[in-house]
Amino acid sequence: MTAADTAAPPQKYPARVFFIEDIAADTRLLRLELDNGRKLPFRAGQYALLTAADVEPRAFSIASAPAAPYLEFHVKNSGHGFSAFAFNNLAIGSPVTVDAPWGDHFWRPSARPLLALAGGVGIAPLKAIVEAQLEHARDAKTAAPVHLYWAVRDETHLYLDHFFLSLAEAHPAFAYTPIIAHADTTHAEGAGRRSGYIGPAVMADFASLAGHNIYLAGPAPMVNATLPLLLERGAEKDFIFSDAFGG
Ligand SMILES: Cc1cc2nc3c(=O)[nH]c(=O)nc-3n(C[C@H](O)[C@H](O)[C@H](O)COP(=O)(O)OP(=O)(O)OC[C@H]3O[C@@H](n4cnc5c(N)ncnc54)[C@H](O)[C@@H]3O)c2cc1C
Repeated sequence: MTAADTAAPPQKYPARVFFIEDIAADTRLLRLELDNGRKLPFRAGQYALLTAADVEPRAFSIASAPAAPYLEFHVKNSGHGFSAFAFNNLAIGSPVTVDAPWGDHFWRPSARPLLALAGGVGIAPLKAIVEAQLEHARDAKTAAPVHLYWAVRDETHLYLDHFFLSLAEAHPAFAYTPIIAHADTTHAEGAGRRSGYIGPAVMADFASLAGHNIYLAGPAPMVNATLPLLLERGAEKDFIFSDAFGG
């Protein structure tokens, strides 16, 4: 079965929170289980509309792989709406409605090199996509390079740094480049970090992006600033899949 075969029309599923972790001062990881042991059919990179109580539904990318027995979300607190509700009101056992799957920003099986570009919590769909690609590469016995760039505001927002470093150790075809907008290289934790923005970093590292499948997710200003740079470096429009998280 290919990823394309697992598409399903979106529907509303009752679910419950079974795990919560505050992974940064303003970011909370939630794991949900659908009621009655149901499993959500979705493609890596898609998102769900989450709602609870009478809060307006909002889009959140699914960070877990389609095969995982739970749905993982990384919720950044905007101070309003669903994200504030998730911080202030959700607890273990709280009911949440999951309306899913949505979105065209999903992983396509391919032997082309893959470039994954995440800004902030844009890492959520890209975590699922990178995992899907590495699993596919293992099964298909291909070694197409997979390179993840993850740009964050500061060191505290790099909450999956160890996870991706371990993944890079386990998979020789996988490279991981964290980038801090304003890295403080005078402190131990900032030493050796790339500093700046994701688009210029990719421009500096690649002479050409022709032939790549490129997945891009994060805040709209990051996505909008990066897209023209990718095209300038020869990326093909039909092979760029992007998700902008609001204005
Ligand atoms: C495809 C997609 C995937 C996404 N994935 C993620 C994800 O994985 N993780 C994630 O954290 N986000 C994600 N988002 C963003 C998310 O959907 C929401 O837009 C975000 O959480 C804000 O919604 P909210 O309900 O929390 O806040 P809202 O109520 O929508 O408020 C958002 C903003 O509106 C303004 N605002 C609203 N009410 C007031 C008020 N009373 N006073 C002053 N200002 C106000 C504020 O500027 C506030 O920051 C994604 C978005 C899209 C489109």
